[in-house]
Amino acid sequence: MIIITEAGIPEATLDALREHLEQHGVRTHVSHGTDRVVVGCIGDTSQLDAGAVRRWPGVASVVPVRTPYRLASREFRASSTLVPLGDAAGTTLGGRQLVIAAGPCSVENAEMLVETALGVRAHGATMLRGGAFKPRTSPWGFQGLGAEGLTLLAEARAATGLPVVTEVMDPRQVDLVAEHADMLQIGARNMQNYPLLAEVGRVRRPVLLKRGLSATITELLLAAEHIMARGNEMVVLCERGIRTYETATRNTLDIAAIPVLKRETHLPVIVDPSHAAGRADLVPALAYAAIAAGADGLIVEVHPRPGEAMSDGDQSLTLEAFGAMMRMLAPFAQAAGRTLTADALVAS
Ligand code: PEP
Ligand code: MN
Repeated sequence: MIIITEAGIPEATLDALREHLEQHGVRTHVSHGTDRVVVGCIGDTSQLDAGAVRRWPGVASVVPVRTPYRLASREFRASSTLVPLGDAAGTTLGGRQLVIAAGPCSVENAEMLVETALGVRAHGATMLRGGAFKPRTSPWGFQGLGAEGLTLLAEARAATGLPVVTEVMDPRQVDLVAEHADMLQIGARNMQNYPLLAEVGRVRRPVLLKRGLSATITELLLAAEHIMARGNEMVVLCERGIRTYETATRNTLDIAAIPVLKRETHLPVIVDPSHAAGRADLVPALAYAAIAAGADGLIVEVHPRPGEAMSDGDQSLTLEAFGAMMRMLAPFAQAAGRTLTADALVAS
């Protein structure tokens, strides 16, 4: 933290400020300019509140030197984190190989889930997505099959070998969801649900943390920090579109967030083009853009019959459209220096 004083700060005021700072465990380094003084704080400044220091008499401005997130920052760990998904194939997220999670918005029944899982696997998906507990804007919409949906996901994993990602909405259900899923999804609406973040920080399962509808990149990284501070460092960030004034798409995909995040953090970053677009016809273009911009993977909604979907049918790709997108993705992956699975390359 660097503090810049107002011009002509009296020596006694400066001394009182330094004493206050040093009482909070930091050393101070003072340099006198022609009329202002710059006070550098050396050491652990975590107990100092920049806003409160700004209120001290004679203080003109306070500049934080370190990022507010530590465990998540590249400053703390320069090399990119690889998150293992725990499947027999040894899939990891964050390496050269792209991870493509695909599946329905909601788990609806056993048949459609297995049909979707086998279909997306045939087109090169490396992970199965599907919501058992659904955060719906309306209380009258389908809220998901709950615990039964988790069992169906575990059965689909057994049938296909695909690791499973599904949302957990309630801190009391973290253990139950972790028993069935390979990765716990924190939905956009819960990005700042701190008790929930603390709970998923306690378990040893990778966490897919989606960016909140109006969250800044710093807030997303601080949410990741909440999980990591509890001991779970297997966090994957997901850009899924933010709310803007634009109405042509459900959300606005913040493409710039991908290279910004890749620079700021060592954690893997994936993109959800489905919730960003809200329209199936736009999903492939957003997916290609995401990979070109440096994303480590995608999470895409796919339904064998989108017209019959119980949620998000408008943005779900058919299995055929997913296959076509995967075939077109290969050159973008190659241009970005990434690989798709052997299955996807065979399919293409
Ligand atoms: C979902 O993945 O189905 C979902 C509800 O996503 P989000 O939290 O990004 O809206
Ligand atoms: Mn959805």
